[in-house]
Amino acid sequence: MKRGFDLKCFENSLKEILCCPDCKSDLQIEDDNKLLCCKCGNGFDINDGIIVLMPQNGNQAQNEERELREKVAEEHGSQDIEKIYKAIEKHHCMPLMSSKAEAFRNQFNNNQWIVDVGCGSGYYWQKSDSGAKLILMDFAMSNLKAARNILKDSNNVLFVQADASCLPFKNNAVSGIWSVQVTQHFPETVMTNFLNELQRVLQIKHVIEIYNLNPDFMHKVIYRLFGKYFHIKGQYGEMLQNKLHGKELLFLWEMFTRDGKTKIEYSELFFHPNFKLFPQFNAIVYIEKILNLMPFFTKLFARQISINISKM
Ligand SMILES: [Zn+2]
Repeated sequence: MKRGFDLKCFENSLKEILCCPDCKSDLQIEDDNKLLCCKCGNGFDINDGIIVLMPQNGNQAQNEERELREKVAEEHGSQDIEKIYKAIEKHHCMPLMSSKAEAFRNQFNNNQWIVDVGCGSGYYWQKSDSGAKLILMDFAMSNLKAARNILKDSNNVLFVQADASCLPFKNNAVSGIWSVQVTQHFPETVMTNFLNELQRVLQIKHVIEIYNLNPDFMHKVIYRLFGKYFHIKGQYGEMLQNKLHGKELLFLWEMFTRDGKTKIEYSELFFHPNFKLFPQFNAIVYIEKILNLMPFFTKLFARQISINISKM
């Protein structure tokens, strides 16, 4: 049986977490390359190590966004890992995000499941090989192929093509949600459905960690210096983007923050593609932690803002 992924993890996932995206019933193995829903009978492909659990009727807004994402990921060259890293380095502080992903996963044990929503190439999981079982989820197949190339030898990792507004996970099956610069692109209807789906799939004890681009005005100044336009809210060209301030993030995630510990933090403080600043030293994780004690200062320069909600 050659599926191209961690077989034991896959078998556990069918019992513990994966379900039909449409009717949320159990899935059964039809053959090496296919799963079947036990209730509605819909078939789902397993395509080169990637489990395709897209809903039957995706919404049009998401379809257009997906086509755009497929195009972007293909341009990054999904086959050549060095090329993928070169492309990622221009947009993310890799050592910082890798360290954060590792810490996030390690707060869970290996009986628990966490999901990376909109994993892209999933580069930040590369060093993480303990803690929770991990589902890398994206709606673009070319992103998942890049992620699989980077992480194919990892334990307890599965690759799932799915739609954030229609999650293929059982009720109360997920312990953690991690997402980097993804929800900022969701149209309002997708965001509403996603939040409702999270309420359904998350266990009572859970942790949510969401990263978005920071809209603080200093970035507008920096962009202007480089003759560029810093877009904050709404449609811009082909892309929808809603960069939210801390208060707006707290409001958006209000239904989860009520009885949990909530933190707004700033990250990628020293990283800026316009300044060609790409710090690669590991101590940056600790420096940023200290600077987050002074949020008024850090929010001016941090490229990312994140919300962390913990009910553990
Ligand atoms: Zn079904």
